[in-house]
Amino acid sequence: MTDTRPVALISGGSRGIGRAAVLRLAAEGYDIGFCYHSREEAAIAVAKEAEELGARVLHRRVDVADAAAVRAWVSDTERELGPIEAAVTSAGITRDKGLVMMSDEDWGAVIRTNLDGVFHVCRAVAFAMMKRRRGSIVNVSSVAGIYGNATQTNYAASKAGIIGFSRSLAKEAGRYGIRVNTVAPGFVDTDMVAVVSEKLRDEALAGVALGRMGTAEEVAELIAFLAGDKSAYMTGSVVQIDGGIAL
Ligand code: NAP
Repeated sequence: MTDTRPVALISGGSRGIGRAAVLRLAAEGYDIGFCYHSREEAAIAVAKEAEELGARVLHRRVDVADAAAVRAWVSDTERELGPIEAAVTSAGITRDKGLVMMSDEDWGAVIRTNLDGVFHVCRAVAFAMMKRRRGSIVNVSSVAGIYGNATQTNYAASKAGIIGFSRSLAKEAGRYGIRVNTVAPGFVDTDMVAVVSEKLRDEALAGVALGRMGTAEEVAELIAFLAGDKSAYMTGSVVQIDGGIAL
């Protein structure tokens, strides 16, 4: 780290894993640019908490499915805070349905947010990172993208896509000093899983060796490790953090 604070960009920083990553990276000494989709109050609260940890914070309402909006957010962040050292893509949604009941909109919304969103953010940060020959990208996938999950064909396809995308970008960008790693969380206690019925949650937890959900903070700890220099020789890795979901 230099004498000025490095900058981390986080998509979906208002809630859940993204929020925990904002606070973890702010505590570690980064200035923070994050985006959210619609919950402004949550975003303002996170920004305030990160500022209390000493970070300069720029937060924007940005739909990651919108390439132009992502470009504008990234360039505003670089102009106002400085070069982006680390980018974390945590923005994501679910629209769970059995395949025969899945509408084009259920499919498209998940692919556009989860997969196009990662493409948009990575493309927007990559060129400046290449020029500086330095940068770390951490994309948030899911164990669903590795093992699949009933009623989540759309979500699992988006999350498997993130893994292929990230490994390809790792190969492409390594020579420019850019590292690209993926975290694949299991069942994490956030709003995203709060909508799952208690019965399904209990069934899912029965398959977790540690017998409990993970916390957003536990995932953020891994994200911070992958974002920073402590993981300097890691790229193209897919790190599962799932309490032993598939043992
Ligand atoms: P969450 O609590 O529902 O938070 C989602 C975040 O993404 C919010 O900040 C939300 O903004 C933002 N977001 C959603 N759509 C967006 C869009 N189109 N553009 C910009 N931001 C958008 O979810 P989470 O559980 O923290 O999940 C974070 C990531 O981890 C997701 O990629 C998810 O797939 C992945 N993951 C989660 C779990 C889990 O068990 N929770 C497991 C594996 C992987 P608003 O607040 O404005 O809505």
